[in-house]
Amino acid sequence: MNQVDYLRISLIDRCNFRCQYCMPEGAELDYILKQQLLTDTELLTLIQEVFIPVGFTRFRLTGGEPLLRPHVVDLVKAIASLRETQDLSMTTNGFLLASMAQNLYDAGLRRINISLDSLDPDIFDQIIGNRGRSRWQDVWKGIQQAYHVGFNPLKLNVVIIPGVNDHEVLDLAALSIDKQWHVRFIEFMPIGNSQLFGDRGWISSAELRQQIRERWGLTESQVCGNGPADVFQIPGASGTLGFISQMSECFCDRCNRMRLSADGWLRPCLLNESEQIDLKTALRAGVSTAKLREQVKHLLAIKPEINFKGRDSGTTGIYSRTMSQIGG
Ligand code: SAM
Ligand code: SF4
Repeated sequence: MNQVDYLRISLIDRCNFRCQYCMPEGAELDYILKQQLLTDTELLTLIQEVFIPVGFTRFRLTGGEPLLRPHVVDLVKAIASLRETQDLSMTTNGFLLASMAQNLYDAGLRRINISLDSLDPDIFDQIIGNRGRSRWQDVWKGIQQAYHVGFNPLKLNVVIIPGVNDHEVLDLAALSIDKQWHVRFIEFMPIGNSQLFGDRGWISSAELRQQIRERWGLTESQVCGNGPADVFQIPGASGTLGFISQMSECFCDRCNRMRLSADGWLRPCLLNESEQIDLKTALRAGVSTAKLREQVKHLLAIKPEINFKGRDSGTTGIYSRTMSQIGG
């Protein structure tokens, strides 16, 4: 059985973007009330007294948009400085990154994933649901600054949506050629209230790879990370191309992670809600961390049976919780 030692921690469910495939504008989202969010102290208690003792050593901070979390730099510092932390990374939309990259790096963050679905500011704004001043430039600056500061690996997450940005596959892949940027294509999932998926469908990693292979050729490669990406490289490129194929391939057998939501629910599978633990309520009710460790150990033991195969998407085929709510 795969060792489960990687925890994705959602710091906040809110976001400053409204990506069409995640939190489309107009979607009714039940935001977590401020008092229901895990506090910094609660989160650190859970990490130190529950997760690390049962074997978690690798952490990713995500959301919603993690850079919106108050004191995020202090949190990074506190988690990075734990002796047992072997790896700490973050997934961000990059909008606030330009001014925060150096502080995050100084606090101990070394790996970062930045979402970038388009190189065309108009299409980008369309995807992120922006009607005001374009935000593409800010994100681009955030990426450049993260690179300049020394984040390594620096990964760019791309979701390709048919009819929206599928003509940009080669341009986005080309970002991996000159700089040591690792572009990761994530298959579009029917998660969130996304009509978009129903209307447009999705493009498999195999099809994307084929397009890229026809243009440049591809060789198998590797990059440091905890994920299920299949990694390739354009011959001679500085960076790599990763393909995350959760729609076309089942990689439950390789799954090494659990997710902690911003309000303290621990879930063993992205799409299967059958077993979850409400750690925050337990902690606030005075349940000992020793008892919580036992509960988490139980979840770890039954995790192999809780997987995508048992997922519940109801009759619509669209999952009701969004990535921003689960902690993508
Ligand atoms: N706000 C941050 C960001 O966008 O990078 C972190 C959270 S976001 C939920 C994490 C990742 O989930 C992003 O790379 C985003 O593209 C991806 N994501 C969200 N909804 C998705 C969907 N329906 N299908 C595939 N990926 C999705
Ligand atoms: Fe926000 Fe990230 Fe979801 Fe886009 S994908 S709406 S940036 S949480």
